[in-house]
Amino acid sequence: MPEFKSDIEELRYEGISYFRYTRDRKGAARGSIGLKDGKTKQKIREIPTFPHIKRVYRLAAGIRYVFGSDPFFVEEKLDGYNVRIFKIGEKLLAATRGGMICPFTTEWVGIWNETYGIDRFFADHPERILCGEICGDNPYNSQRDPDLAPGAHLFVFDIMAPDGKNMSPLERCRLIEEYRLPTIPLLGKHSVREMEKLCDLLKDLNNRNKEGIVMKSGDGDTVVKFVTPAKDLEDIRDGLIIDFDLHQRYFRNRFLRIANFIQEFDLDREACARWIGRTFLDGYAPLESFEGSKEPYTVYVVERETWEKTRVLIKQVSMEEKSIDPVELDGRSMLRVRFNRVYDRSTHKFHNILKGFPHTD
Ligand code: ATP
Repeated sequence: MPEFKSDIEELRYEGISYFRYTRDRKGAARGSIGLKDGKTKQKIREIPTFPHIKRVYRLAAGIRYVFGSDPFFVEEKLDGYNVRIFKIGEKLLAATRGGMICPFTTEWVGIWNETYGIDRFFADHPERILCGEICGDNPYNSQRDPDLAPGAHLFVFDIMAPDGKNMSPLERCRLIEEYRLPTIPLLGKHSVREMEKLCDLLKDLNNRNKEGIVMKSGDGDTVVKFVTPAKDLEDIRDGLIIDFDLHQRYFRNRFLRIANFIQEFDLDREACARWIGRTFLDGYAPLESFEGSKEPYTVYVVERETWEKTRVLIKQVSMEEKSIDPVELDGRSMLRVRFNRVYDRSTHKFHNILKGFPHTD
């Protein structure tokens, strides 16, 4: 069982002792991991947290403010969950943003190792940490890009040094190419002088329901993100039915982003108004035959034990296991697990609303 000491959580994963910071504290941010020696229990290695990425709400003004007239690299922002992949002894491991070694992702790292030979990278760079977005079928983010094939997919977007410093985008691309690692889509080098090109790129991402972009300076030290209304509206649609379990700023922040994008990119107001209205109706549609505030998930695992361990990790929320079926995925025998995350507070509130209980607003 984990042992809590203020904001450090002591954990174990397959014989490895480690701890994670559960809150930001001086010298170590939330999500940083300390790996311990099995015998002495002393910290032998630290995996720094993945840093927050600031957001700009106005693209052109944001670029002028952050990069001035300097060029910067643009990458697609993919919508999955963040992992750090590292090697300890003979083991390839994957940790979530919060600093938990994740059995589900670690098992998939084994699969990606067979596909891409991730081990070749770590043989030459044992102290480095691969940072990537995992998209597709996963237990953390139910908003799945329908263009992706079944299963989980890795997209590397950074290569971290042991002290937490990220690599320059050019150097990272060189290594990704050398080791044939799967990369986040690269959208070129841009500058404020060619805003039109960048605007077209954003409109195209929006039209294709993609999340947005991450902009990075040449040295990799300055990073900002900018997202599309398509993504914000998807979040609002899916968030309405779990509303009472979300933080208060969740919707307000997205409204602000959507309005700013529509103004800056001069989108058709009438079409946007219909789109936004439809999002509300779609988001509340489950109330018409309400069974609870739920998010559906599908995951693929090789070992049943991987699923059992993953269940434990995500047990903070109520869960409904729906089915576990043997399937063949890319020639590999796997188990397809279907489950729902159930949001109890929202379920309770909406049930009361539908029963007609009077509420004080
Ligand atoms: P914060 O950045 O403040 O922690 P958050 O955790 O809510 O915010 P997002 O708003 O989704 O996360 O944005 C940051 C995340 O975007 C990163 O942690 C990373 O997982 C993901 N991401 C997707 N594509 C990229 C990319 N090309 N470069 C860097 N990060 C990316």
